[in-house]
Amino acid sequence: MASEAVKVIVRCRPMNEREKALGCKAVVSTESARGQCFLQNPAAAGEPPKQFTFDGAYYQEHNTEQIYNEIAYPLVEGVTEGYNGTIFAYGQTGSGKSFTMQGVVDPPTQKGIIPRALEHIFESVQCAENAKFLVRASYLEIYNEDVRDLLGADTKQKLELKEHPEKGVYVKGLSLHTVHSVLQCEQIMETGWRNRAVGYTLMNKDSSRSHSIFTVNMEIYTVDERGQDHLRAAKLNLVDLAGSERQSKTGATGERLKEATKINLSLSALGNVISALVDGRCKHIPYRDSKLTRLLQDSLGGNTKTLMVACLSPADNNYDESLSTLRYANRAK
Ligand code: ADP
Repeated sequence: MASEAVKVIVRCRPMNEREKALGCKAVVSTESARGQCFLQNPAAAGEPPKQFTFDGAYYQEHNTEQIYNEIAYPLVEGVTEGYNGTIFAYGQTGSGKSFTMQGVVDPPTQKGIIPRALEHIFESVQCAENAKFLVRASYLEIYNEDVRDLLGADTKQKLELKEHPEKGVYVKGLSLHTVHSVLQCEQIMETGWRNRAVGYTLMNKDSSRSHSIFTVNMEIYTVDERGQDHLRAAKLNLVDLAGSERQSKTGATGERLKEATKINLSLSALGNVISALVDGRCKHIPYRDSKLTRLLQDSLGGNTKTLMVACLSPADNNYDESLSTLRYANRAK
């Protein structure tokens, strides 16, 4: 069933010091056992809160370890068995996307989904008895609908998307890097991060405005009892999306507005694709509407698993953004 293939959870971060100092009130609450999230409109205190139901609702009493074990584990396990998977975090800047995806070292329970997924993958590589694995990583960025290789020889070069009758959509010239361990994978990721940051400074860009996709490509070779070779390929896409904040509010003009329009285009295209997949009745899935969805075409829908983590701030001054995040996430389930 399509709905089984797409899971949507919400995660609300704790109130931060700045919000506390401003005297903000919490307008988000959860009923985790039922996957419910409630949002109270601060301008209509008498009204009942808006209610949303997801595959999981996490708040300050939960950590990333729980989220991984309950929701992300089966998806990554699927990748080790030959199915594509995609994990992404959605939400306004400052809502906890990086905290959830990259995470922190201390406390260990808040280690991010990405390092956990990498450990999971390499553990299954090391434990496999009758299979050989080739694991290769790639890392690209989409900024203003231009695609760049964050690990390429020239990280400024714009790359083209191409379509191959069997391979499907691919990025021409994107570099692939063989990795043998979690550490190697993390080192490569860090190189990509650095290249991204250098690009921002040089071009006066803002990291919250680009999407990036770190992909772990796996090839799994097995030999059956009759001595026949089998090759399966799967990939795990770890997507870091641009902040979802509505740019009209920021009063952007010129180049900034152009960027904003393109960020919104990719995010709304992604929302449309996921909601069409979840609906299950749509024959036409609008993958072609953005670079992001074209690139993820073979990893969204079909035999693949997708997890979206919708991140929220609890504070009343973020009510509008939180409502828009919950509506986006709600369409996707
Ligand atoms: P984003 O990537 O969406 O811009 P971040 O992940 O950088 O947001 O989070 C903003 C700040 O909030 C960071 O300082 C981060 O450590 C903190 N934070 C986010 N989520 C949590 C959480 N669940 N628990 C504790 N701190 C969090």
